[in-house]
Amino acid sequence: MRSHTATMVDRIEDTSRADREAALADAGHNVFELASDDVAVDLLTDSGTGTMSNDQWAAMLQGDEAYAGSASFDDLAAAAEDVMGFQHIIPAHQGRGAENVLYGAVLSAGDTVLNNAHFDTTRAHVAANDATPVDCPVDGARDPDTDAPFKGNFSVERARRVVDDVGADAVPVVVLTITNNSMAGQPVSIENTREVAAFADDIDATFVIDACRFAENAHFVQQREPGYEHDSVAAIAREQLSYADACVMSGKKDGLVNVGGFVGLHDDGRLHEQCRQRGILYEGFSTYGGMSGRDMAAFAVGLREAVEPPYVAERVAQVQRLADALTDRDVPIYQPAGGHAVYIDANAALPHLPREQFPGQAFVCELYREGGVRAVELGRFAFPDTDRRDLVRLALPRRTYGPDHLDHVADTAAAVCERGTDVTGLEIVSEPELTELRHFSAALQPVA
Ligand SMILES: *Cc1c(COP(=O)(O)O)cnc(C)c1O
Repeated sequence: MRSHTATMVDRIEDTSRADREAALADAGHNVFELASDDVAVDLLTDSGTGTMSNDQWAAMLQGDEAYAGSASFDDLAAAAEDVMGFQHIIPAHQGRGAENVLYGAVLSAGDTVLNNAHFDTTRAHVAANDATPVDCPVDGARDPDTDAPFKGNFSVERARRVVDDVGADAVPVVVLTITNNSMAGQPVSIENTREVAAFADDIDATFVIDACRFAENAHFVQQREPGYEHDSVAAIAREQLSYADACVMSGKKDGLVNVGGFVGLHDDGRLHEQCRQRGILYEGFSTYGGMSGRDMAAFAVGLREAVEPPYVAERVAQVQRLADALTDRDVPIYQPAGGHAVYIDANAALPHLPREQFPGQAFVCELYREGGVRAVELGRFAFPDTDRRDLVRLALPRRTYGPDHLDHVADTAAAVCERGTDVTGLEIVSEPELTELRHFSAALQPVA
């Protein structure tokens, strides 16, 4: 049984198949262009879409809106230190704001960044600094059928080969993304985190943890990593983050808020000063950084709730429940399920579609047409230059949907699979110049 009740409700509008067909055509077959009122179950992202607790709402009323020296900033900084162990934070409006602050400070043109897998905004920020993002996933990470406990891990072996090639001086930053969003939300072990820390130290690079889903990752460590079964999620999270020199955090994920973020640092040396100055320039003064006082107040409470049992265990169990419902209906999914999302393998579901016709995006469009379910493609459409599989992500907003919604999603996905060869492929009509972010704004049309 869930350990919480809903105290506020948001009605879901009823749409017909004809309404959805028209909305999809208007949206250029890109679900980012859909109005949320036209969506029944919105699994586009788990980013900033969750439900806040009454404690968070209560904290918002106490938000201190002072430009400088806000008490709400102090609350957020204290939570970041207590929960994540970072003594210093540079606040930002959301994760990518924090990425801009940090990566702009540490990268120069021609550098290489190593990451277990770059999330799309991270990849774009590295590229925007004229540096090269290189993914170092472990073997089998992209295989949807290998069952392994930590498929999100970073391959130090792969990373060493890159360093041999480009030279250690060209690699100022090593990033570990926990959980590994671009690798089906798979977790990273503490053992691997220690190895990556040692490797970064060895090549004299700054070790950054992209900590957006640090609590979900800690839950998996507790469940799967020998020696951690008796430790609390809170203790595991603190240990894992302690190995990093810095973190990038999006409050929209495990901060349990709708907006917000920060860069976390253990000391206030040169990097802290560089980030602080960039933060003031791009985000706002160092005690708000793009957030209102009430945003920071809710974020401070959310960070603490994220590591309090049974929150994260229930969250991950809900994701597993959706995975099981899909598997029961023979919908091919990436195994094992991730911490925040289930990924449908569109290449397996729609084998008649060549990869050039974006089977993932075709599946996304069909999910919407069929049942008003909004998902996102994370395959060749979102990542034009990689060879990854065409996955469709069903991300669950935190503390929001119930079992009936999940059953509807599973039924809808099964209906799309049954439609099989009737599902047509897509082609791009227009796309933005910065192709790293093309899935947010490109327009498509069905292949004639
Ligand atoms: C969401 C996310 C970001 C960026 O955060 P935003 O708040 O969306 O700007 C960075 N890295 C990872 C792994 C993420 O999931």
